[in-house]
Amino acid sequence: MLARNKEVNEACSSIQQIEDRFNNVYNYPWVFLNDEPFSEEFIRRTSQLTNGNVSYGVIPSEHWNQPDWIDEEKASSGRWSLVLQNVIYGGTPPTIIFYRNMCRFNSGFFFRHKLLQQYKYYWRVEPDVKYFCNVDYDPFLMMQDQGKVYGWTISLYEWGATIPSLWETVKDFVKANPHYVAPNNSLSFLSDDGGESYNMCHFWSNFEIADMDFWRGEAYTKFFDHLEATGGFYYERWGDAPVHSIAAALFANSSQLHFFRDIGYRHDVFQRCPQGAQHVQGKCWCDPNDNFDYRENSCLKRFEALES
Ligand code: GDP
Ligand code: MN
Repeated sequence: MLARNKEVNEACSSIQQIEDRFNNVYNYPWVFLNDEPFSEEFIRRTSQLTNGNVSYGVIPSEHWNQPDWIDEEKASSGRWSLVLQNVIYGGTPPTIIFYRNMCRFNSGFFFRHKLLQQYKYYWRVEPDVKYFCNVDYDPFLMMQDQGKVYGWTISLYEWGATIPSLWETVKDFVKANPHYVAPNNSLSFLSDDGGESYNMCHFWSNFEIADMDFWRGEAYTKFFDHLEATGGFYYERWGDAPVHSIAAALFANSSQLHFFRDIGYRHDVFQRCPQGAQHVQGKCWCDPNDNFDYRENSCLKRFEALES
């Protein structure tokens, strides 16, 4: 969990739900990261919620802050252009830079943090999310047994104004490094015209259960370096969700991506709720009619088209 000290109440709420519905059986460890030291209150209140190990880390400045080589004038005009388009977290300088820092950190750095080196799989948990159902199996073992690298719950369309040049940057990388593209990739999840343009579909990264060795591997490392070198995390507002999603869809086989159909989850305004027997079996409390899966702005249908 990446969190700020002021989010302690929201962090506790998320932790308590995961503990009650899953981790009280498994006692997996929690790792908390922050760009400044965690407060005594944050540590005290979160650590008492679990029997698992807890650790609290500070993110090194070079993994978080805007690098010196970024042209601040250009970055600032990029931020203003998003403000004028009313894009969330477009931002007013300088405060909203934190959002770019967070997106870049989640794209390229969290899995390099010292406290995460001993782990292969992670479950990303944000403050203030909701979990509706029991998870009565071990999703990490499922990922391992089935050779999965990326698991998700909600997919949707990205706001194009935040990533005007991302797809061209991806295409440049792929052209120069075609050998990283998996034979059974999920390009048709990302593009409706064979890769010419990006349809904006991505997995919502506030929930992720994934394999950090995939991010640590050669393909993603080079991919991230290529993206980073353009400055797009700051000149535009590239999200870690499209960045992770594009990489997972291109550099892994589609069978290595996993839709957690049995996990009931809500972040902000969107939720997905398991249906039918899974709703019963998971003792879910969400309204099955309030389900993002087949809403107009969901990309699940495209994912299912890959599977069939
Ligand atoms: P959204 O989900 O895109 O609306 O963004 P959030 O505000 O939920 O941020 C995503 C995650 O990053 C959450 O886990 C936040 O707690 C965390 N986060 C965002 N900004 C900061 C920050 O400046 N410092 C720290 N430590 N965490 C942050
Ligand atoms: Mn969030």
